[in-house]
Amino acid sequence: MSKELEFLIGKLHLSPPNFQKGKWWIPYLNFAEEIRKDIKPPERVYVHEVFLRESNQHPRVSLKTDEMIYVAKLLDEMGVARIEFYPVISEEDKKAMKELSKENLRADLSGLSRMMKSDIDTIVDSGATHIMLEIPGNPYAFKALWKLTEEQFIDQLVEHSLYAKSRGVKVSVMPWDTYRPFYEYMDFFEKLYKALANEAKVDGVVTSDTFGMSLPQAVMFVIKKIREWCPNTPVEMHGHNDFGLATAIMLSAVMGGASYVHTAMNGIGERSGNAPTEEVVLAIEALLGIPTGIKLEMLYYVSKLIEELTKIKMPSNKAVVGDALFTYVSGLVVDILLKIKNLEPLEETALMPFNYKVIGRDSYKVILGKGAGKSNIELKLKELGIDPQGIDLEKVLEEVKREAVIRKWEVPDEAFKRIIQKYLKNK
Ligand SMILES: [Zn+2]
Repeated sequence: MSKELEFLIGKLHLSPPNFQKGKWWIPYLNFAEEIRKDIKPPERVYVHEVFLRESNQHPRVSLKTDEMIYVAKLLDEMGVARIEFYPVISEEDKKAMKELSKENLRADLSGLSRMMKSDIDTIVDSGATHIMLEIPGNPYAFKALWKLTEEQFIDQLVEHSLYAKSRGVKVSVMPWDTYRPFYEYMDFFEKLYKALANEAKVDGVVTSDTFGMSLPQAVMFVIKKIREWCPNTPVEMHGHNDFGLATAIMLSAVMGGASYVHTAMNGIGERSGNAPTEEVVLAIEALLGIPTGIKLEMLYYVSKLIEELTKIKMPSNKAVVGDALFTYVSGLVVDILLKIKNLEPLEETALMPFNYKVIGRDSYKVILGKGAGKSNIELKLKELGIDPQGIDLEKVLEEVKREAVIRKWEVPDEAFKRIIQKYLKNK
């Protein structure tokens, strides 16, 4: 390594938490005092996986019982803390839960419950170990729909939480759509969350940005408030992706002190879906440096399986698991990639958001496309075991680029071999 390069690298902070050899090189700024002074993340974050429940509410997704069991076991192996089902509305969910309750999973089996004792009974009888008690927490909704006063609302929620606890399961309470009225009704929310924590002694209080419309800073504000009101009760975050902010608000919630994130693999859930598990856990681990207990190397595999089961293909530009993430077409980039591949300590991670191995992908892909350079050609020849001696590489490159424009993407191996035949020197 040259002296100059050594000097440059010496100035960089290349040790944990922001740098992990072979995994990622994250901006040190994420961990700098100036940024960290305003955030209060917990030491550990837990994943409450909602894909199986929320996918019931996504158009054209309907999983069979054995598919749910298969996915739940994988999620358990991957390390999620809880797996949510909807046994009250779905027979498949109920059967899956019952089967899984015999399996000794590490994860809690959670059932979504309305504020009804009959729901709680159905869920407990289905083998749940956790109940997610939900109700619209927006005063407009409970006043207009059920004519409940604020006091009645709080009393009933406490009563149902205590009932669920008396049935021997853990309980989290999710008053949803809490963000829109939060600022104007802060006194009410203070009473509500304090009652849940102190009177009902629930295992988790949830805030839900149900329509995903809060700024990340607003989410952090709310979570910090609830942490102040209920310092000894874990705070959980539920949120949707209607404005494309689901991952950002989950991260913000964690930075405010939330220790449970409600996420769904591939982001599949009601409407535009939930915060994708794969995005949220990778961001929490890499960008915030907080453990989640998730085996990151299973993310790609589970994502692909869920694509198959739901028939919802992730776009190629999808964050974390999109196929384009590790597909290189530009000759310029490939050239750099090959040059730095073995350059310690950053190696090829220097040119990647994170190493492909982190999420369990086997390799990256170099494409013969219209932006290809000589490096792409040389790499492809090596891959196909063709000796570059005697091949006019300039001519091959020109033709590959022409062909790629016509094909609008990659020149496949068969077409590449035809081009090689044409430009063998002295044939
Ligand atoms: Zn939801």
